Amino acid sequence: MIHLYLKRGKDESLRRFHPWIFSGAVHHLEGQPQEGDLVRVFTADGDFIAIGHWQVGSIAVRVLSFIDEPIDAAFWHRRLSTALDVRRSIGLVGRPDHNTFRLVHGEGDCLPGLVIDIYGATAVMQAHSVGMHLCRHDVAQALKEVMGTALRHIFYKSETTLPFKAGLGQENGFLLGGDADDVAVENGLRFHIDWLRGQKTGFFVDQRDNRSLLERYAGGRSVLNMFCYTGGFSVYAMRGGARLVHSVDSSAKAVDLVNDNIALNFPGDQRHQAFAEDAFRYLQQMGDAAYDLIILDPPAFAKHKDALRNALKGYIRLNARAFEKIAPGGLLFTFSCSQAVSKDQFRTAVFTAAAQSGRNVRILHQLHQPADHPVNIYHPEGEYLKGLVLYVD
Ligand code: SAH
Repeated sequence: MIHLYLKRGKDESLRRFHPWIFSGAVHHLEGQPQEGDLVRVFTADGDFIAIGHWQVGSIAVRVLSFIDEPIDAAFWHRRLSTALDVRRSIGLVGRPDHNTFRLVHGEGDCLPGLVIDIYGATAVMQAHSVGMHLCRHDVAQALKEVMGTALRHIFYKSETTLPFKAGLGQENGFLLGGDADDVAVENGLRFHIDWLRGQKTGFFVDQRDNRSLLERYAGGRSVLNMFCYTGGFSVYAMRGGARLVHSVDSSAKAVDLVNDNIALNFPGDQRHQAFAEDAFRYLQQMGDAAYDLIILDPPAFAKHKDALRNALKGYIRLNARAFEKIAPGGLLFTFSCSQAVSKDQFRTAVFTAAAQSGRNVRILHQLHQPADHPVNIYHPEGEYLKGLVLYVD
């Protein structure tokens, strides 16, 4: 196996279990790694410190273990069973009214570059690194062992998440089974999940707890779910007794999905309507109309640090428009899922928007990602989802 030696002093962050090695920390390599190869990492003094996947780019290695151990079938089995134990211990496994959760959340589960979401009998697996892509069959085998007969399909969906430059020509496809006709159940609500064509793994599992909170506040209110995608928030708002629910997404496909999911849970219910429209245009065309509750859950405005300034402007503009459209005594659920935008930066953007609108605004809740999207304490970069629930006088 290829050996990598660090520059003197560049082992600091690894001693604190940070799972990334930047290319600037590399002194030299013994051997020539291909992207995705396993490399053993040593300090300048020649002491073993980590083993991980080699990458091309500013992150040179994503660490799999800080112990000198083989990365074999037993390794994958251990990591996945620990991940399942965590989900079991937080009550997400084995419930009749709930079969949807994230089993593996990358660095948060000591498996950098790997995401696995479970929807009933189907697992959707995504590799974000070439190393994980090369290990996909080993991971799938361990997944079968750990999940047992409850798992009948594994869909591998890495076409868009793998580094383009790696030139793997990756196509999505089943590693086990092949039935795509499954319905996910979340807190007793049912959702068609389009893992073949949908965004990410097909559903935004990460908003589960925030949707539950919304359900508590939806009673009697008129609700606007902006950037609705599959309509997760809309379905919860309906169960919460909303007076009306309007779902908006610029994608016509998303509008079909939300309509399907409303029909699945509340057939024939006239309280819901969906619109394929750009968010800004929709808010502009509303005129003097107002909602009692608005949800803003846009896609990541900043995918990289360089896009940060524009992203913050985008959050200010969007939230300012929403503040103008909330009835007195209304609520705003506003989110950012950009990893590059910190909690404080997002809050400052929303604060700026509030000030522009001149409304009196109280923060009721500060929201984040749920427990099945854990943050590795040594990898604070893993904290990406942040939200605020605001009361607008
Ligand atoms: N709230 C959703 C996830 C949102 S994903 C959930 O809980 O599942 C972001 C969505 O925003 C996508 O469906 C995308 O089609 C939509 N979108 C992107 N740009 C938009 C725009 N300018 N106006 C309206 N919708 C937009």
